[in-house]
Amino acid sequence: MHNHLSRTLERLARVRRERIQPRLHTRLGGVEVEAWTVPDDGEPVRARHALGLEPEAGRAAPDYRPFPLGAAWGAAWSTTWFRIRGTVDPGQAGPIDLVLDLGWFDHSVGGHCEGLVFTPDGTIVKGLHPRQSDIRLRGHGADLVDADGSFVLYVEAAANPLLLGLPPFVVTEHGEKGAQEPFEQFRLRRAETAAFSPEIHALCCDLDVAGGLAAELSADEPRHWRLLRAIEEALDVYDEADAEAGAGRARAILAPVLATPAHASAHRITAVGHAHMDTAWLWPLRETVRKLARTVSNALALLDADAGLVYTMSAAQHFSWLEEHYPELFARVRHYVEQGRFVPVGGMWVEADGVIPTGESMVRQLTYGKRYFLSRFGREPREMWLPDSFGYSGALPQLARRAGSRWFLTQKISWNDTTVFPHHSFWWEGIDGTRIFTHFPPAETYAAEVTARELHHAVATFKDKAIASHSLLPYGYGDGGGGPTREMAERLRRFADLEGAPRVISRTPAEFFEEAESELREAGALEPVYRGELYLELHRGTLTSQAAMKRHNRRCESLLRAAEYLSAAASALRGAPYPREELDEIWRTVLLHQFHDILPGTSISWVHREARDTYQAIEERLHDLIKRAGAALDGERAEGGLPPFTAPERPGAAAVEVADGEAGATVLDDGLLRVVVDGGGHVVSLRDLRSGREVVPPGRRLNELQLFRDEPVRWDAWDVDRHVLRHPRPLDDVTSRRVIRNGPDAGVEVVRRTGASTVTLTMWLRAGTGRFETECAVDWQERERLLKVAVPVRILARTARFETQYGYVERPLLTNTATEEAMFEAAMHRYVHVDDGDFGLAIVNDTMYGADARADGDSTVVRLSLLRGARFPDPRADLGTHTFRWAVLPGADVPAAVEAAYAFNAPDVAGLPAPLVQLELLTGHALVDWVKQADDGSGDLVVRVYETRGARAGARLRCHEELDAGAVVWETDLLEREIGGDDDLPLALAEGRRPVDEARLDLGPFQVATLRIATHASLKEDLQ
Ligand SMILES: [Zn+2]
Repeated sequence: MHNHLSRTLERLARVRRERIQPRLHTRLGGVEVEAWTVPDDGEPVRARHALGLEPEAGRAAPDYRPFPLGAAWGAAWSTTWFRIRGTVDPGQAGPIDLVLDLGWFDHSVGGHCEGLVFTPDGTIVKGLHPRQSDIRLRGHGADLVDADGSFVLYVEAAANPLLLGLPPFVVTEHGEKGAQEPFEQFRLRRAETAAFSPEIHALCCDLDVAGGLAAELSADEPRHWRLLRAIEEALDVYDEADAEAGAGRARAILAPVLATPAHASAHRITAVGHAHMDTAWLWPLRETVRKLARTVSNALALLDADAGLVYTMSAAQHFSWLEEHYPELFARVRHYVEQGRFVPVGGMWVEADGVIPTGESMVRQLTYGKRYFLSRFGREPREMWLPDSFGYSGALPQLARRAGSRWFLTQKISWNDTTVFPHHSFWWEGIDGTRIFTHFPPAETYAAEVTARELHHAVATFKDKAIASHSLLPYGYGDGGGGPTREMAERLRRFADLEGAPRVISRTPAEFFEEAESELREAGALEPVYRGELYLELHRGTLTSQAAMKRHNRRCESLLRAAEYLSAAASALRGAPYPREELDEIWRTVLLHQFHDILPGTSISWVHREARDTYQAIEERLHDLIKRAGAALDGERAEGGLPPFTAPERPGAAAVEVADGEAGATVLDDGLLRVVVDGGGHVVSLRDLRSGREVVPPGRRLNELQLFRDEPVRWDAWDVDRHVLRHPRPLDDVTSRRVIRNGPDAGVEVVRRTGASTVTLTMWLRAGTGRFETECAVDWQERERLLKVAVPVRILARTARFETQYGYVERPLLTNTATEEAMFEAAMHRYVHVDDGDFGLAIVNDTMYGADARADGDSTVVRLSLLRGARFPDPRADLGTHTFRWAVLPGADVPAAVEAAYAFNAPDVAGLPAPLVQLELLTGHALVDWVKQADDGSGDLVVRVYETRGARAGARLRCHEELDAGAVVWETDLLEREIGGDDDLPLALAEGRRPVDEARLDLGPFQVATLRIATHASLKEDLQ
């Protein structure tokens, strides 16, 4: 038989596009459209106001005017309400839709204009986007039409500009309201009633599945040819002149090839409906609230229509917004949560950045998230769900497990630019040794559309086929929401058990994880294992972009630490009320801003402007809380507030001696360190007088500022590319240079200029501290430039320690392998530590997160990243003034680095009371990271401690003498629930519940322990 099937798929594409799809809707008639554009600042009004049901104070009354088809409606960021009236013939058979085109770009779901449909009584019908542009008026369970055939609907249309278009990353001013740049308004291109053909719809889905599968299967496979043959015959019998009947005939021909079952060993995919929803990104926070309503209403409609579907949603913040702004939708969500079909996942407050937040912030992401889900639904998500964050710290396995979670999910590591990650289902082992079952969906997307190509890619890519046969597929439009569509649901059904494809089943992530984990356990006990952080070989610029986000986040974390500690102390020692509600509110705001496009600095100008204002406000509140707690602890200080910063007491410290060196150099010497700053303002010598070690390698300059041309290939605010780092340009220009003194301290201040930017470096030798400190003030006017400061040190090492949550991660200084080379810019928290076995050195900072560290002959060069100037998505990112501080501590070991890091970041709170709780170290090094009151209002104290060196530590707890002598301590999980030895997680208090003065803590490497202390004497009596 001759074979002429080679063009079948091309024929299919054209016939489907031109002759089948256009028959899906047959126009019935026009509709009457009126519009009202929200005036004033254009910010959204409540639906009940726009519908004339309940006026909102201070907002203009709705004023609907006739609106012609084809007219422009949407100035950037404005909201237009459409009132649409029409009639349908009561005798018209079959489903009838209202079809709208608000001005769609087909390629961008959730990235430009969107709509939300209401009935006149304020009931939400559904959300609108390019792939959800019809509203069922009648049929298939819907009935929005009155007995006389008339209907009225309202559409809240949001004119969100298309910011990430084709080509992508084009610089635009429209990330802020009121931009002067021209904006082409959206136009209402279609508004009509139409008959919907279920048969044509079904044919489209059949052809998509059959054609997609044929395209994926090899031409060596008989199945490939059987599918092509069936498609060819189906197209032969389909005639658009009699589309409905033709569709039936075509489907009959396709039915047998769509009924042959999957192979016995076919891969198994769990498909879960999902909409990745960025809490803010190319739109402000307030828009996400509306996006949620659109996406969730569509998801609920699908759950109503298809009893087999499951939908997942992460981020307690999103549920909370829904509860507050759309209680009717929230009630429907609750109904499906109870049925187990609308599944809260992740258990975090938001899908946070995975590397920048401090340990306590990650704890609170989990505890505020889980408490919310427990309080509203009585359920606790058991998986961490972070599909899109830009890397994952090695502390997360321990934190997830200690918060009661069992599984971890991401797919982002598939974006690596260098290394193909070796697994999709594996045990991820954190820096402390805790393991968590982890899955990367092998379709390598969190927004699948359930196509044959994705399913084939998932099977082909899945790295663990030899021992595992299950994977997860989150499907539904994402980033700006959107979620699953009925077409995805239809394809899902067809792929349930189909020859040549994996078996696709709709069920909950927990059901998937249970089965995938037990499959792995049975196959290989505890293999495969991946140890350490999940470093993302991409988006390395997010550690530096929008420096204000980083500075405010660090400051808020430090202020919260002081505020919770002092408030707990004021409550425990003076009986002052603990400001729980205010702290909760502040925490939730800080957690919200740790979202993976806010803290990383990758949102539009609007988002970062609002964030700076919000941070400013909460920092003031935190200062106020600290002041109030201080006042309760000490009446005297209440009158004058807290005293200003005073230099830490350094008893016996000799004042720094200043002398002139050669060629205009300045020599600073305090008996511990001797620093030589040359005439050009560079540090050419830093000698540790205790060890005699010179820190600065010969011919090198410490504190050299380096400027790089920072022009990313893609993803401007996200990426620092390797080519950027090839050509540093040192800033040598000296505008001024002078010697400065303050008390016993002395230093050199150097002002440098580049272009319109100014950098002032104030370098201090802090007498008696062993610390060489730099204050850096920058007026930054550069675009597409990266500014780093280099700290070359004469230490030969193979790795450097970068602080991360509750510990450090060791990163290679060598570039022998591609993986080592790819870590050319990486995350640090408050310190980087380098050590050659004899001599260590720490560089601590107060606000930075990006650094690179490389071996250089017998030395090491560490460079901290200060500023960038990306132009997309915020063309004015980082313009303005910034301050940074860092310090070099020659001779420091890790415990010294950790303690300096705390001191360097502590807010200016002088005269603290004697510690409420402290550790008396018996062996090793551990410390009290956090003290707070228990979340349940019992008045118990909660103390978080951790081991800092990656070794082991033993310690006793010591409480403030004024605390109840009968204090009892026990160990809890992160949610402050008592834990025993029924898990494989090591306990610090192996002896269980004990009187505090008898308790001994044993901590493993980087182990985090949460201790709860009840100070009621009765508890001790109970124990005896
Ligand atoms: Zn995202």
